[in-house]
Amino acid sequence: MANHISYDCRPDLVGVQMSNGLTSVFVSVLVLAASALAQTDRQREFAAWFASRDQNVFGLGMVGFDIGEMPWRADTLEADRDFVLRSVEAAKGRSGWDRLGYEPREDWVFERLEAFRSLVAAFDARDAETRSESDWSLGVRPAAFTLCAVHAVYLHAYGCALCGDA
Ligand SMILES: [Zn+2]
Repeated sequence: MANHISYDCRPDLVGVQMSNGLTSVFVSVLVLAASALAQTDRQREFAAWFASRDQNVFGLGMVGFDIGEMPWRADTLEADRDFVLRSVEAAKGRSGWDRLGYEPREDWVFERLEAFRSLVAAFDARDAETRSESDWSLGVRPAAFTLCAVHAVYLHAYGCALCGDA
């Protein structure tokens, strides 16, 4: 089983294909990086949204997504994109990896982060899915943004994306 990150409106771009195990690593390093960088609720929301792709809650092979599902808002798109791209760079800089509790296969993770970066860089606001702000494609937006005391990452509505991997 596997998870796929796609940009369905741009079939010319290659998506991100990952085994379930690699998906957990991908989500973890992105959440660690985004949580460390986040300074505004908008940015904390992206960190928590990445955390919501949690296979321990939603099932193995169930957390793939289309780029348009991310919590973009038309009026903040470029700032949102900048934050996500900086989070990808920080993840490639191993931000918070000491809290992972294991040594990931670096080349596999970096390859997927780079492919994800390309999709985000190409994203067009017109391709954002319209849905209510509280209704995420997996679960709901947390009522408040709270850090896990163990991992210092923002929690999704049902807990910490990293605690379940321990
Ligand atoms: Zn945790």
